[in-house]
Amino acid sequence: MSHSYDVLIVGAGHGGAQAAIALRQRGFTGSIAMVGEEPEIPYERPPLSKDYLAGEKEFERILIRPASFWAEREVDILTGRRVVTVDAAAHRVVTEDGDSIGYGSLIWAAGGHARRLSCHGHDFAGVHWVRSRADVETMMGELATTTRVAVIGGGYIGLEAAAVLSKLGKQVTVLEALDRVLARVAGEALSRFYEDEHRAHGVDVRLGTMVESIEGADGRASGVRLADGEVVPCEMVIVGIGIVPAVEPLLAAGAEGGNGVAVDALCRTNLPDVFAIGDCAFHANDFADGASIRLESVQNANDMATTVARVLTGEEIPYHAVPWFWSNQYDLKLQTVGLSTGFDRAIVRGDMSARSFSVVYLRDGAVIALDCVNAVKDYVQGKALVVNATRADPALLADAGTPLKSLLEAA
Ligand code: FAD
Repeated sequence: MSHSYDVLIVGAGHGGAQAAIALRQRGFTGSIAMVGEEPEIPYERPPLSKDYLAGEKEFERILIRPASFWAEREVDILTGRRVVTVDAAAHRVVTEDGDSIGYGSLIWAAGGHARRLSCHGHDFAGVHWVRSRADVETMMGELATTTRVAVIGGGYIGLEAAAVLSKLGKQVTVLEALDRVLARVAGEALSRFYEDEHRAHGVDVRLGTMVESIEGADGRASGVRLADGEVVPCEMVIVGIGIVPAVEPLLAAGAEGGNGVAVDALCRTNLPDVFAIGDCAFHANDFADGASIRLESVQNANDMATTVARVLTGEEIPYHAVPWFWSNQYDLKLQTVGLSTGFDRAIVRGDMSARSFSVVYLRDGAVIALDCVNAVKDYVQGKALVVNATRADPALLADAGTPLKSLLEAA
């Protein structure tokens, strides 16, 4: 079969869905299709390690839009189809099942795949990762026979899963290779706070711990062997060690990249009429001091999608969106604004023991990010400090009685 669309979106996740939504909102009348390798129409990924894993939400409630929405807006969704080849000169992609689909413009929104372990036992039954609905449902199906869970990786997804599973009564061990959790994304104060919280909930948090292999019998995991020889016994292993950007077909077609696909401020790759957005887009970010990075967040996927929809409807506005992120663990709602990478000073605002506080990150005296724990007001007001790279008196930043918005006015 050979067919063609004015806009073809590869990846039916957050970025892909938002690209189609924004195109129609902006009056784009051409044909649009989304090709996604998963069997579902676009759904939200954040609940997979939060309330969906906890069994507190039906799948229909995490759909980004109901099926009728896409039909009404004439957005074709080709589910269960994996794109394996891009022919940039011919403006065509080919799916694993041999279908060739032409495009006017291609939006690559394929996100990433969960990074797997490579050690002995990595493919045993009982070893899981949390990227898709299917991953989580397989895990949930094994919970009834699981007492002990080892989570490899103390990043957000691993910690969120640890929180849910310990609340479900499982005995959870978190194995982190570095000397603190969340080391890639937060300062030490926040890491220590979350380590303490997890320990207070009975989670065994092990730092500086290298995994050697997965132990098992008859192809099923029974424990995690550490570098020092100790075996942490468990029935379930959750691997939360990041993602590998899903960009092979684009790179093979000649796109520049390596850690994802390189894009400019309008999310254009170096291939003609090919854009890349979301987790897989390697871009110079204004809020990272211009450094090129990939951002793994719903905000980034949505805002990049809007950037491309604008370009395709005749409005070229460079991507310049303040990064924000959230994480729910136990009754703690963390909201992050800005990027703390490269900070030279961290100021704690409020009382950590009261479990409502913020960490304000500064670089060269300017506010670059805030981590707000059960502190919505700081998050809302702090955003403007990040956007304006406000220089504020550290003593006032540390004083929870001084509203952050007053510091903006004073600056
Ligand atoms: P995705 O939403 O991952 O969509 C990409 C889609 O493309 C996938 O369906 C994939 O299967 C498909 N695909 C890949 N390759 C191909 C191919 N060759 N052909 C066809 N289809 C393909 N972000 C937050 O901001 N806050 C949170 O609290 C948060 N929690 C998270 C919790 C979990 C468990 C996970 C996994 C992610 C979380 N994130 C969170 C990150 C957020 O979900 C991602 O940043 C976001 O989904 C990125 O959107 P995307 O469109 O780039 O990729």
